[in-house]
Amino acid sequence: MSPRAVSRVFRPTLFGVGFVFLLAGALPACQREPGKAIEEIQSVTIEGPTMGTRFTVKIERARDEATIDAASRRIPEVLGAIDSMMSTYKPDSELSRFNQHQDTSSFPVSPEMIEVFQAARVVSEASGGAFDITVGPIVNAWGFGPEQRSAPPADSEINALLPRVGYLMVEIDAASSSLRKARPDIYCDLSGIAQGYAADRVAKMLDELGVADYMIDVSGEFRTRGRNDRGDSWQIAVERPDAPERTAHLVVPLSDKSLATSGDYRNYRERDGKRVSHEIDPKTGQPIAHGLASVTVVTDNCALADAYATALIVMGPEKGFALASEKGMAVFFLVRNADGGFDERRTPQFDALVNVVQ
Ligand code: ADP
Ligand code: MG
Repeated sequence: MSPRAVSRVFRPTLFGVGFVFLLAGALPACQREPGKAIEEIQSVTIEGPTMGTRFTVKIERARDEATIDAASRRIPEVLGAIDSMMSTYKPDSELSRFNQHQDTSSFPVSPEMIEVFQAARVVSEASGGAFDITVGPIVNAWGFGPEQRSAPPADSEINALLPRVGYLMVEIDAASSSLRKARPDIYCDLSGIAQGYAADRVAKMLDELGVADYMIDVSGEFRTRGRNDRGDSWQIAVERPDAPERTAHLVVPLSDKSLATSGDYRNYRERDGKRVSHEIDPKTGQPIAHGLASVTVVTDNCALADAYATALIVMGPEKGFALASEKGMAVFFLVRNADGGFDERRTPQFDALVNVVQ
């Protein structure tokens, strides 16, 4: 079988790059294990560009070739559809049209947008507003949005933007499938949740096709089901921060779960020798500047894992960990220490996952 070619589109990175990767054994795009016939293995890797970054999907033990063909065709379609809805880089995406709608009248949107706005709201409420999609204008001011910026924003610019930030200023009406702004200049950025949501949508499609063993990676946000090629849980490696090459710090066995990571060591800019993170504290309008280098969250739903990872890294090593512990979440923190190394913090729920004997 030859996979449907996925054309490569070059454009700025919308969602950054992942901090986690599938450990070993990954085959190149749409290849099967050499020497094994399709009847025996039905194993395939499908990969390509999406949302300014990349996706990889591995499928094991598919029922038949028709299932693999359907999956290869549908995965880029599902991801493309999400991108056309939720990109701030595409001026005609549904989200961009909502952002351009400088009006407080209600704006009809797709059920997928309602679902993402609702998931975002859950995490905003749980995190006391640390996760807030209305932070978009400030993300853009710091140069992490669609427009290039050569200089950091002045305090006066940030202060002028802060009144536009507040998740309660978007009303979500699921019954009429519409959104409404409390002030006309609200601008939303879904980049902290859309990749995870996209992984959820791909998972739903694969479930409907009857695929029982898969691993979906949308720019480092993972959703898994069943087992890998060796019949074990999928092995997802959390990257060691600051390593010159991709090195596994820790391996998380994952089956029927999602894993998302947010970090300050991949998508950032250098300003005056200092690192400017793309994770913004919506209360201050400032990029995070604490010792928390990465947050990994494991949960069922990938949109929530993605948004919680962003929320917890914004909250920081103490408050973020306290919230995760209180909520009984499986999370793993890497915190920079005074010696230039990293200290780990894991909740018991995360420990239980990693210590599982296979
Ligand atoms: P990554 O893109 O590396 O996976 P995240 O999932 O944490 O990282 O998403 C970070 C993106 O989310 C930023 O680039 C920005 O567009 C947006 N963002 C930044 N700060 C916040 C925040 N406090 N709440 C919601 N979204 C945010
Ligand atoms: Mg996120």
